[in-house]
Parts: sequence; structure tokens; C-alpha cells
Amino acid sequence: MLLLNSCQSKNEYTNNFFTMDTPMSITAYGKNAKEGVTKSISYINRLDGLFSKTLNQSEISLANNRDGSAYVFSETVSALIAKSLEYSKATDGAFDITLGTLTNLWDTKSETPKIPSEKDISDALKLTGYKNLIQDKTHVLFKNALKLDMGGVVKGYACDGVYEILSDYGIKSAIVNLGGNIYVIGEKPDKTPWNVGIKDPRNDDQNAIIGYISVKDTSIVTSGDYQRYFIKDGIRYHHIIDPKTGSPSESDLISATIISPSSTMADAFSTAVFIMGREKGEKFLKENNIDYILITKSKEVIVSENLKSSFTFEGKEKGYIYDK
Ligand code: AMP
Ligand code: MG
Repeated sequence: MLLLNSCQSKNEYTNNFFTMDTPMSITAYGKNAKEGVTKSISYINRLDGLFSKTLNQSEISLANNRDGSAYVFSETVSALIAKSLEYSKATDGAFDITLGTLTNLWDTKSETPKIPSEKDISDALKLTGYKNLIQDKTHVLFKNALKLDMGGVVKGYACDGVYEILSDYGIKSAIVNLGGNIYVIGEKPDKTPWNVGIKDPRNDDQNAIIGYISVKDTSIVTSGDYQRYFIKDGIRYHHIIDPKTGSPSESDLISATIISPSSTMADAFSTAVFIMGREKGEKFLKENNIDYILITKSKEVIVSENLKSSFTFEGKEKGYIYDK
């Protein structure tokens, strides 16, 4: 996803930075823009220090390397674990933060990625399952040797936190892009909506889009098979793991975007809906009254009813099909 806005204003402040393994940027408008953005960046770095799976001293790493079956988390981590367990229940287990052993096995970030053996996958699958996490206040009991991976929800959580921080600084107009998890705050300074591009999942050019939505005060989160992947023998192995099979999900979707004022929820549900596929995913989103843009393997673009008037399709020449 990318932002199609260019506005110049004297109270504008932008910072591009890199954390949580991804490039991020925040642009805010208003007199406290710089202070608000600076505070937001230290907040995101603090979250990375808690939730990272790769930093040895993060709470998640310490819990993953725990000695025994219980771990006492800080309130922040504990609260996001609790929320994540709710999302697991709501999505019938499609979203699951207990896939750490599997996501280590399918290391799509590696320079030399390998396809794990069937045996490795079935062994790793035994060490997963959100039902094996029992939470009691900040105490979490692990019923097996599972490892946590909160990469499917933490950027959304960070977006919601940044929204709060910027609001506390009195900022009424800002755009937060945390590695493709976007929050648009208020409207553009010229009082028009923000235009947020939906990435073309089959074009490596970072600026290629299939269309855009004009929105205000909401979060836009996409999960796709093009974000982290490797191709071997013509097969694309991406980073979103189907908890049922232990392998990259093979639904009919190549991209799932959720639009909601709760970025935490949008993040969890975009991952889940990507796995559920079009039919199950659309049913789930409609039942929960959540807006979406889905793209199928056959390049069909599906936009929720409520969002159609704010969506501009630009994918025809690229072979995408959009039937209003
Ligand atoms: P996202 O880009 O938000 O869809 O999240 C993908 C990331 O979440 C992966 O890189 C993994 O760290 C983690 N993940 C993979 N599969 C799942 C899943 N089924 N449920 C929750 N998190 C997952
Ligand atoms: Mg997600």
C-alpha cells in the first residue's frame, strides 16, 4: 500500500525510520507535529523491544526460551496476547499467535530459504495451537512447548498506539505508515480525504497499485502473498501460515485489505481472512460489518458494499477485474 498524497504545509513534519524489520514513516501536521512523531517513534521502538521474535531480550523471546511451563508478562504484552486469543476464537483459529515454531521453520526472510520436510512440519504443528495458551491476568501457562510469533498483529497494535499519542499532542491530521499498516488521522490539511493506494500484488514496483480508496480517520491493513516470499520450482512460498496445514496458506486470495478504526483488529483479521479465502472471508467480514478489499488469484477485485463509493479502480490495464 502506499500513499498518494502530497501536501506542503509549514507545520508538516515527516520522519522515515526502520524498526520491526520494516521501513516506516509518519507525517503529521500541526504545531506539535515533531514532538508527537518523535514520541511515537520511541513508542514503536519500545514495542519492538517487547514483541520482537528476533531480539534476544524481548519479552516474547524470553517467554519462548522459558524454563518451565509458565511466564509472567508485562501488562502491555499480556493485553495483546488476550486480544489475540479473542481474534483466534473469532476466526476459528485462522489467526494464531502460537505459530512461532512453524514461522521459524518457514524462514521466508532468510537469504537461502528452504522448504521444510513434511516431518519437520508435522513435528512443528504439534507445538502450536492457541488453545494451548492459558491466560490468567499477566500469567500465561503454556500447555506445550509452543513459541509465540506476534508479527501478524503487532504493527496494527503499534498503529493504534501512535494514533493515541498523536491525538494527545493535539494532532488532527497525520498519516502513519508502519510497513504497510496504515492509519490516516483526520483529513488532509486541505480538508479533503486521504488517498491510500492498494498495492498491485503481482508487480514488484513498490508504486504499482490496482486502485485507491479515499478515506479519513481509519486504518488500512493488507496481508498478501507478495510481502515476504520466495519462489522455488515455480511455487510461491509466502509468510502467512495456515495453522491447519503448517504451510503457507493456499487460499484463492493474493491480497486481503481490512479497513477499520481498530488497526489491531484490522491487522489480525487481514491475516486471518487471507487464510480463509474469498468465500469464508467475505462471510466472516459481512457478519462482523467490517470493510474490505480482496484480490483473488484470478485477479478479481472485491470491495465491500460500504466502501464502493470511496474506491477508485485503476487495475484494468494490469488485468484486474472489478465488477461494481
Ligand atoms: P501479516 O503481514 O499481518 O499478515 O502477518 C504475517 C506475519 O504474522 C508473519 O510474518 C508471521 O510472523 C505471522 N503469522 C504467520 N501466519 C500467521 C497466522 N496464521 N496467524 C497469526 N500470525 C501469523
Ligand atoms: Mg496481520
